Amino acid sequence: MARYTGPACRLCRRVGDKLFLKGERCYTPKCAVDRRRTQPGDRSMRRRRISDHGVQLREKQKARYMYGVMEAQFSKYVDNAFKQSDSTGEHLVKQLETRLDNVVYRLGFADSRRQARQLTMHGHFTVGDRKTDVPSYSVKPGDVISWKESHKESEYVKIMAADLPKRPVPEWLELDVANLKATVRRLPRDEELETTIDTRLIVEFYSR
Ligand code: SF4
Repeated sequence: MARYTGPACRLCRRVGDKLFLKGERCYTPKCAVDRRRTQPGDRSMRRRRISDHGVQLREKQKARYMYGVMEAQFSKYVDNAFKQSDSTGEHLVKQLETRLDNVVYRLGFADSRRQARQLTMHGHFTVGDRKTDVPSYSVKPGDVISWKESHKESEYVKIMAADLPKRPVPEWLELDVANLKATVRRLPRDEELETTIDTRLIVEFYSR
């Protein structure tokens, strides 16, 4: 499966916004966006005027980079969203939010979506009784996501578990800290979608 393997901070600088791809570092003065506001490769300090299309494109790229989704998969999410009767933008975000790697991140099992994706691909989680190593797996109400028994004793999991009670978990997920597992109570409601993405711009981009 194709994926971007270059420097994460470069993606943030490309869209000129913090995408929080590197966990703790993103909250420190070391953040590349906080240190340098210019785009990668842009030696000019002058601000270029961006067209409406450019603004829409940047928002679409921002969403892709933030959730770690490749272009083809993202287009499929958008196509699905257009077929729904509810708001296209909200349905798009719901699909992104219910990806297994995002859920792992939301539960606090990983510091960033990037790390969550890696942990998922390395087979650290089960959904129900089955090992699931597909980051794009779409969780459903009633799904139980758990660390694999063989990984629960690892040093990483012990340190991560000590931090779990301090982390906020969305209402639509129910975390069982003691057993390092979580249940999907229901799909997220519109008002629970925590996102900094302007989905209106993305819908406009794909409506042209
Ligand atoms: Fe983006 Fe985090 Fe890098 Fe800052 S530290 S540029 S928010 S990935």
